[in-house]
Amino acid sequence: MTFIQVAVPVPLRQLFTYQHTRSLNSGVRVEVPFGPRTLVGVVVGTQDPADIDNIDKIKPLNRVIDNEPVIAPVLLKMAHWLWQYYHHAPGEVMHAMLPVPLRKGEAATPSAQRYLQLSDEGRQTDSDTLTRAPKQHACFMALKHGQLLAVEARKQYSPSAVKSLLQKALIEEVDQVPEFTPFGYLAQMQIGQTPVPDKEQAVAIAALNQQHNKFVISLLEGVTGSGKTEVYLQAIAPLLEAKQQVLILVPEIGLTPQTVARFEKRFSIPVGVLHSQLTDAARLLVWQRARAGELGIVIGTRSAIFTPFKHLGMIIVDEEHDESFKQQDGLRYHARDLAAMRAKEHRIPLLLGSATPALESLNNALTGRYTHLQLTRRAGGAQSTQQHLLDARDQPFHYGITEGLLTIMRQHVNAGNQVLVFVNRRGFAPAMLCHHCGETVMCKRCDKPYTVHKAQNRLQCHHCAGTRAMPRQCEACHSHELVTAGTGTEQVEQGLARLFPDAKQVRIDSDTVRGKDKLHNTLDAINRQEYQILVGTQILSKGHHFPHVTLVAVLDCDGALFSADFRAAEKLAQLVTQLAGRAGRASKPGEMWLQTHNPHHPLLQDLVNNGYSHFARHALLERKAAALPPFISQIIIRAEATDSALAFGFLQQCKTQLLMPIDNIEGPSVGGPFPCLMEKRQGRYRFMLVCNHAKRGPLHATLRRALPYMQALPEGAKVRWSVDIDPTDF
Ligand code: ADP
Ligand code: ZN
Ligand code: ZN
Repeated sequence: MTFIQVAVPVPLRQLFTYQHTRSLNSGVRVEVPFGPRTLVGVVVGTQDPADIDNIDKIKPLNRVIDNEPVIAPVLLKMAHWLWQYYHHAPGEVMHAMLPVPLRKGEAATPSAQRYLQLSDEGRQTDSDTLTRAPKQHACFMALKHGQLLAVEARKQYSPSAVKSLLQKALIEEVDQVPEFTPFGYLAQMQIGQTPVPDKEQAVAIAALNQQHNKFVISLLEGVTGSGKTEVYLQAIAPLLEAKQQVLILVPEIGLTPQTVARFEKRFSIPVGVLHSQLTDAARLLVWQRARAGELGIVIGTRSAIFTPFKHLGMIIVDEEHDESFKQQDGLRYHARDLAAMRAKEHRIPLLLGSATPALESLNNALTGRYTHLQLTRRAGGAQSTQQHLLDARDQPFHYGITEGLLTIMRQHVNAGNQVLVFVNRRGFAPAMLCHHCGETVMCKRCDKPYTVHKAQNRLQCHHCAGTRAMPRQCEACHSHELVTAGTGTEQVEQGLARLFPDAKQVRIDSDTVRGKDKLHNTLDAINRQEYQILVGTQILSKGHHFPHVTLVAVLDCDGALFSADFRAAEKLAQLVTQLAGRAGRASKPGEMWLQTHNPHHPLLQDLVNNGYSHFARHALLERKAAALPPFISQIIIRAEATDSALAFGFLQQCKTQLLMPIDNIEGPSVGGPFPCLMEKRQGRYRFMLVCNHAKRGPLHATLRRALPYMQALPEGAKVRWSVDIDPTDF
């Protein structure tokens, strides 16, 4: 009899022991009884019978699912690191690493899938016959390049388009077990046209060429449009030629078909794409193809860091500063940190790229822990965007825009160029209040003002997504005079339509671009110059290329100057710099104007006059002086409950545990319980403890010792609480 340790998917920070007739490889899935349920767990080791109490109570496992481990040894090491470092339940970590069908116990080896392909008739048919049905046409054209998974095709081109094509007998369905061959064996890889790198690019590429099969982390700090992607392309070419695979992580919204097309076009090898909109079956297929070595490149968002590979040669994290790399619930991991951990296990290089590096990464580059590669000029002779502050004090405003800014906008529109207007919130206005008594209409679940959405004629809470009908009168004094305060994208769009009746405009925020295709279609239309004015939120700052935009106007950045979050300045500087990077990318020079009531604010002055790289180095000095991350380690314990005293009291008891001295270890400082920045959300009051320590080791040791006591607190069952290691927001 062997005693097997299993990571079972339950929210408990421990492993469970089962008995079996023989030993099993770590990484193999097993079905186990757990109370009244049957769960799919992952084997992580065996246990010495001498270490087991109540040995006759140990249950046998129900069934062994896999012959071969589904989690390879390097990934098991990563799993182990994850549950140790993030103090998370091992079974939940394992599940997070696996595609959904495998969590449910389905076979890991490819099973028959339904594919679509052209029929004999389809192959002889001219696609022009379908031009009146654009979706059928697009699907048909895609199938000319090869088979598609039937579920994917239905999702992408609509079920009715597929149905029509089947009825016309232009396409057919086939069931096949996919066979995978490692890339580069059946067909030789061809490298497409490659521009001559400029001096700085050449230096970076040469440095990266020295790193093959070694664990080295590099930061490529390159201004927007300096040719970072071109460096990635040229740096990975020799690795792909050596049949090594490359993983590229990109931000949530940065994964555009253009990015993927650029890699596909350069290298004639299969490229896999992973993002949140894929079906479970499609994700599993990418997982299998990468594992078998068929995919040369996998491009994906945060969770793509868990993809198995046959022979991984390099990891790239593009726009490494982006907040979407940090998971903000459940297993709160940072994909950039995981990438470093993974590169170390594989003994391969990790390349981080950004125009606005996170202060954490920049500090590692400046202190020599990372290789620092810099691109200081835009590629292909494009000029950098001139940045200016616009003093909004005492100026007349129209829909949130000063007269001065309107004049500048007119010049650009009249010159036939495009103008990008950044507004930091969506909706019509961030608040509605009573003109008579001043009462604001509040979301009672979050204690925050509702945002006015005129288009839907409703109020919406941006914190809990709750909505309500537009009120007719004030709840306090019954006055009918309700007015809006502040400006959101919807209002700016309406205002600009009146101010620029001849310019066509488009609004881009999460209300107007639901679904990724909508966004891509809008971006294409912008680049065809169908619009002259673009109004939008954050979405506009993410890596898109707008060759005809020559002016970027930022309507309000004052809020971020006075935030209680010490990262607000860094985030604002990244946003502003990324926005500036959208303008003047082609032959046309660009400018950016920041409208502010604080034109002499040192942060804005530094950013506008000296640029992000100067700002960031200065900000690091400030963080050091204030003993803030990255110069110290931080852990936040959050708790929320409908009864605020419960959440507060629970954290107070946790604090007592965290402050309990441990031999030979200097304890952390524990601040709080403080209310979170969002004090109330969805009817729950939220508090946090902030634990700081100059060193990571003692901080984690303290938490490790305190956690079992915290878990045993009876109040813990009545509140929702969580541990956030290296938090990035409050
Ligand atoms: P980034 O990733 O830094 O935004 P890209 O790699 O997308 O920059 O480059 C910006 C533009 O400059 C692209 O159109 C790219 O094709 C072009 N480019 C990059 N490197 C060169 C080069 N060495 N010579 C000519 N054009 C280049
Ligand atoms: Zn009132
Ligand atoms: Zn709310």
